[in-house]
Amino acid sequence: NLPVIYVVTPTYRRPEMVAELTRLGQTLTMVKRIHWIVAEDSHTCSPPITSLLDRLGLSYTHLASPMPEVYRREKYVPRGVSNRRAALQWVQENGEDTGVLYFLDDDNAIDIRLFNEMRLTQTVSMWPVGLIGEYTVSSPVVKGNQVVGFYDGWPAGRKFQVDMAGFAVNIGYLKKQKKVTMPYIAGHEEDGFLKSLNLNLKDIEVKADGCTNILVWHTRTAKNPSRTLRLAHHQATNIKP
Ligand code: UDP
Ligand code: MN
Repeated sequence: NLPVIYVVTPTYRRPEMVAELTRLGQTLTMVKRIHWIVAEDSHTCSPPITSLLDRLGLSYTHLASPMPEVYRREKYVPRGVSNRRAALQWVQENGEDTGVLYFLDDDNAIDIRLFNEMRLTQTVSMWPVGLIGEYTVSSPVVKGNQVVGFYDGWPAGRKFQVDMAGFAVNIGYLKKQKKVTMPYIAGHEEDGFLKSLNLNLKDIEVKADGCTNILVWHTRTAKNPSRTLRLAHHQATNIKP
């Protein structure tokens, strides 16, 4: 049996939520042995998302864990941490040791071949992520099949200069670590999490043809605060006699 990939997707309520999760979920239905953990930044699970998950026919867990108010007031808000933490705890308690944990944001785009790359991860594996920052790509720097550093437009003193979509973790390895956590520090969520795994650069497994192949992109959906307003206006126009 293939190891299960536990895909953790943080999400939150806004007009684009159903669209994002429909696109991502239908991508995931093309992949074998996936367990999708949709973790909402909310007090409750949104019924349209539960219906979507039922329709997709994937193995899934739907949970909700809201960001504490104190972090919402920060200048740079650490997005999706409370819900990722809840999913992480779920995986630590319920995940199969042979399985793999992967964080995938709801607005990213993924080539399903990446799942073949990450499925046999023994500790932590990494690969490039496209459409990140000024450099357009964020990637481990590889020498002789070992990670020796990172190419990233925002080093910010991080030991692991990687995006959330740029790594996967073996569940057995995860469970052996004592103080696994993700910090509520915007921009340092990945680095803090990977540091909490007691990871050394030399232990990182290099994937995607020695990190030369881009199989996931940090695409972002444009925010459109006037979207609900425009819809209302449109409807009002339509009902004019
Ligand atoms: N997110 C969340 N709560 C929020 C804002 C974002 O759970 O208040 C989720 C979002 O759905 C996404 C992830 O956290 O899966 C990263 O957020 P976003 O895409 O806005 O950040 P960026 O693209 O800037 O990294
Ligand atoms: Mn995003």
